[in-house]
Amino acid sequence: AVWNGPAKGWEGQLQDYGPLSLMPSAQALNYGQSIFEGMKARRTAKDRIVLFRPEMNASRMKDGARRLCMPEVPQHTFINAVEETVRANSEYVPPLGKGALYIRPLLFGSGPILGLAPAPSYTFVTYCAAVGSYFKGGQLKPIDLVVENKFHRAAPGGMGGTKAAGNYSAVLQIQRAANAKGFADVVYLDCKTDAYLEEVSACNIFVVKGRTIKTPPLTGTILPGVTRDSILQLARKRGYDVKEQPIPVVEALEADEIFTTGTAVVVSPVGSLTHKGKRRVYGGGVAPTPVGLELYGDLTAIQNEQTGDHFGWVHPVC
Ligand code: PMP
Repeated sequence: AVWNGPAKGWEGQLQDYGPLSLMPSAQALNYGQSIFEGMKARRTAKDRIVLFRPEMNASRMKDGARRLCMPEVPQHTFINAVEETVRANSEYVPPLGKGALYIRPLLFGSGPILGLAPAPSYTFVTYCAAVGSYFKGGQLKPIDLVVENKFHRAAPGGMGGTKAAGNYSAVLQIQRAANAKGFADVVYLDCKTDAYLEEVSACNIFVVKGRTIKTPPLTGTILPGVTRDSILQLARKRGYDVKEQPIPVVEALEADEIFTTGTAVVVSPVGSLTHKGKRRVYGGGVAPTPVGLELYGDLTAIQNEQTGDHFGWVHPVC
């Protein structure tokens, strides 16, 4: 679905997946006015297709738009576009438990501009593709992470808290180097002290010790994940002592378990964390660790409509 705007309101329609036509001077190509979202549509136990908390994605995109001087896409336009895209592609939504239809809403400055300024016009598109598990080896295979000691993902006062395209180009080199050494992904540290965990390239991070579950606070440098927020609520409901507070790397190395959360990764157990050449293995490194596994079960039972939707998170499409 492609929407152009917002001069006369956002007007859009469904069209076949294919190239978009842009001027070489399109703002997004030159100065990076581009933000996106990642969502999933799932076929559920009630044999319908549902989204998960889409209003959270709509509101995060609005926040990002303000930070990048872009017009906000209204929530109803955003959710309509996503729903239309899902309905038009419902045949590609995998069967229950076999993956999901990943949806990518994207807002960018498509209008031409030469000097450094916001674009004169914008394009909002949604496109989709069927996906399986994000990391190699299947959804619950523990992943090996490495702590990055040289580069940072986001600076205080920067754009780390938005889903800006540039945040992702900034990590490509780091991620590729880590992959070449056999790591699934990278854990970034804070810019100021290089002592505290921030997040992973495309997911948030949680650390478990006993009955305490911690995740780094939202101070503007990490993305406010929809899954992060959902896991915080599910963990509180389970009676864990849940804390959003800075986590020193040394604490993570001494934890019982670590897991990452995101729309793409869902809840992924961490099998090992390597910091300055030292490797700490969690739960033997081969099987998912128990707290992450329990919360993965709670989350996916709601997403797949295998249990009651107490929080009102499920959004039926068709
Ligand atoms: N951090 C980053 C940098 C991400 O790209 C993502 C994926 N959107 C997340 C965290 C997790 O966010 P969510 O749970 O909303 O997918």
